[in-house]
Amino acid sequence: MLILTCPYCGADACETDLAPGGEAHLKRFGPGSSDADFETYLFARENPKGVHFERWRHAYGCGKWFLAARDTNTMEVYGTYPAQTPQPPEELLDQIRTKHPDFKWRDIA
Ligand SMILES: [Zn+2]
Repeated sequence: MLILTCPYCGADACETDLAPGGEAHLKRFGPGSSDADFETYLFARENPKGVHFERWRHAYGCGKWFLAARDTNTMEVYGTYPAQTPQPPEELLDQIRTKHPDFKWRDIA
């Protein structure tokens, strides 16, 4: 079972208390962007077998959105952080690189 710690209220929430929100740190494209960029923003998503950054909402708790880094293969959770964080925290990336030295993710890590 997936258990994530909500960074706002501190509760350890199991997946039945959470609502998934898809991939985190999407680069948004709006009016004036090219059709290809807008299409990518709408439809293209990462689906790795391994480390992934995701959006979750503590639906049956405080109700707030937050971000989580976890391994989709092993279900290991590296950490959670507030949804307003523009990039994964460096200490979280260091923790991931310790286990996966050649870890790369877009242009962020
Ligand atoms: Zn919460």
